Amino acid sequence: MAAALHDDNLRRIRWVALAMPLLNLLFLTALLTATPHTEPRMLHWQEALRPLHLAMAPVFLLLGLGAVWLLRRPAAPSLLRAAWARLTAVAALGFAIAFVAADQRVGGNITTFTLGAILTGVVVVMPPLQSALLYIAALVAFWIVIGATQVDAVLLLAAQLNGITGATLGWVLAAITWRQALVNKRLTLQLQRAATTDSLTGLANRKETVRLVNEELRRGARHGHPTSLLLLDLDHFKQVNDRLGHPGGDRVLKHAAAVLEQSLRAQDRIGRLGGEEFLVLLPQTDAQGARRLAERVRQRLAEALAEHGEITCSIGFITSETGEESGFDQLYVQADHALYRAKAGGRNRCEVAA
Ligand code: GH3
Ligand code: MG
Ligand code: MG
Repeated sequence: MAAALHDDNLRRIRWVALAMPLLNLLFLTALLTATPHTEPRMLHWQEALRPLHLAMAPVFLLLGLGAVWLLRRPAAPSLLRAAWARLTAVAALGFAIAFVAADQRVGGNITTFTLGAILTGVVVVMPPLQSALLYIAALVAFWIVIGATQVDAVLLLAAQLNGITGATLGWVLAAITWRQALVNKRLTLQLQRAATTDSLTGLANRKETVRLVNEELRRGARHGHPTSLLLLDLDHFKQVNDRLGHPGGDRVLKHAAAVLEQSLRAQDRIGRLGGEEFLVLLPQTDAQGARRLAERVRQRLAEALAEHGEITCSIGFITSETGEESGFDQLYVQADHALYRAKAGGRNRCEVAA
């Protein structure tokens, strides 16, 4: 969950941080093309803004490119992803304070700080306690900077009070955004789970099984690995239902799914294609390995399911030596022929695809 939130942060940072340099460029163009002001404090103000925009453009470009780089490297540590987002938040608030300091030369405007606090709160999502610390630190820095740059006592007091409002608003928005992000993430995970899982057995559903098989075949083709599939169908399951009733049949299906999960290696994947038909995906497994595993699965299932009466299964299996020129559909047709041969040959047996 936390990893997904880090990536969401990086995705938002990518766009906002990469858009910032364009804004800086616009400001710089406006500042450079404007006729120099005759009033000294206006001139000073313009002169203070230029280096700030010049410094901010490359910093945000770097932060944006860093986010793009991290998003393309799923293996990059979670800590680095979280740290990058927080660094971006600190940079954004730091620049907002620096701009406000420049603005104090020509009045008591602190809009940049308020906007910076709000934008940061919405873009960089973090737990409320962390954002509270960030905004308190930003407010302290803001007070110090404003105290050093605003000479008018009345404007100083107004700016300080408005600064509290800006920081509080930023923090409240950050906390709301955090809460919303958590709810959204939880809902997305639940939806993903519901869309890919078979509700009775908890195994991958048919759609997800097809996706997993095709993904593995592509990986096999890339690395030259063989991939094997076992197509497994429980024998005479109608009779099992007749004997135990449908709820009893469901219990057998759940038990069969659990036994399959226990009998296979961690990298193997199991899906329920429908009814009492299961598919086992064996990555990096050649024909010999597939035969061995098919036999083992057949025997384990018969042993484990014996408590429900005599229940056996038939298995058709197939190997794609390199994963090339084959997808789920082609392999499924051939494994199904093999399964039919196993059924025709008397059931409770494994047959390899011709
Ligand atoms: P065969 O050995 O030829 O495979 O015989 P079979 O009876 O297993 O064959 P068939 O595929 O015709 O029947 C499968 C039965 O599985 C039919 C259906 O009642 C039952 N079935 C399918 N889905 C479920 C389910 O979710 N729960 C239960 N309890 N039974 C199911
Ligand atoms: Mg059957
Ligand atoms: Mg069937």
